[in-house]
Amino acid sequence: MALPPELSHDSEFLNYVNVQVALSKVGESLEAYTEGKLRDVHSDVTRVLAPKSLPQCKNNCSEQLRKQFKSWCIACTSWKKELESPGNMRTPAGTQWDKMESWLWPKDFRNIAQVFIQTGWNTANVDLQDLTTVFGIWRRLARVPQTTVTDSDVLRDIRNSIAHATAQRVMRVDDSTKTQTFQEIRNVLSNRDVKPFVADFNAVMGMMASLENASKNDEDDDTNDELLGGVVRLVNRSGWRARPPKEIELLGTPVEVVLIHHSAVGENSTRWSDIAYNFVVGEDGRVYQGRSWDRVGAHTLGWNKVAISICFLGDYTDKLPPDCALEAAQELIKYGVSEGKLAPNYNLYGHCDARAGFESPGRALYALIKTWDHYDSVRPIVKPEPVHVNQP
Ligand SMILES: [Zn+2]
Repeated sequence: MALPPELSHDSEFLNYVNVQVALSKVGESLEAYTEGKLRDVHSDVTRVLAPKSLPQCKNNCSEQLRKQFKSWCIACTSWKKELESPGNMRTPAGTQWDKMESWLWPKDFRNIAQVFIQTGWNTANVDLQDLTTVFGIWRRLARVPQTTVTDSDVLRDIRNSIAHATAQRVMRVDDSTKTQTFQEIRNVLSNRDVKPFVADFNAVMGMMASLENASKNDEDDDTNDELLGGVVRLVNRSGWRARPPKEIELLGTPVEVVLIHHSAVGENSTRWSDIAYNFVVGEDGRVYQGRSWDRVGAHTLGWNKVAISICFLGDYTDKLPPDCALEAAQELIKYGVSEGKLAPNYNLYGHCDARAGFESPGRALYALIKTWDHYDSVRPIVKPEPVHVNQP
């Protein structure tokens, strides 16, 4: 077995991991702000239109009538007019009204997120924890102040440059980029308009500080590695300096579902949050312990309480993870079964099976896992968990 570069001994790799963990935490922390703005727009439009007692849309106008706006029903027309008014939307040009679900707008504030998403982007399954998605929405939401948009643009550019690094720089972040990233993260979180919505602001800032300093004075981690079943090299949380979790919610074991993700920071698709996964597999064949076997993850809406998530670090759209990483994941699963953490008849799926619209685990890796023993070609049906909404 050819050994890939010893990534975990590389401080720039640790920078990368810590920056990604930080960005995913920022994504979580900003959700309440974005929701708050959308909720404001939604309740104002609802109030403005209330006197009209609009009938419910019966035509699914945006889908059936597309851009023939003149034929849209009075409800959809009125909502569209309010949503694109200057008080609500910056730069309405290019909005793909025909790609939306206009009949759902009146029902819930989350349904109008699609209206503000960056033009040209997929309006289905808008992920309000994905930073690039969210910052695109902020640009068009007139109620997000321009100064906030400007702060977010800087962070977004940094994030994109890390995501689109050249092959040699993949999964590496140098110290100055790391410093700059954390600086911009702090800027966005402490932005005057944003901060009141960040739950546990001080704890989040503390976490950022420890992530920023985590990869300094790096020593050899090998002593922290644990050999699972004699094969899987597990790097425990202290080994990669993850913060202790704040809240612990236990998974009911044995778990019957395994979900495979990849970490690709595809702009429009995947939210990277290894800390939210149960395990992360590096290109070096090591397994990084996220929430491990017994704790509920935060990887896949609707699935966190019933599935173990395994995330491969890297973008596996066009290539496969190294053999050692693939073997490590499979050994990890076997070990889970042998320890009674996974049901012997567990089903395995890709992230995209569980949440339509996601590209994770990447085309190439997805094709491969479909050949694995426990892959279940019948699309899973799980009762979604209620969506938790943070009130500011
Ligand atoms: Zn309609």
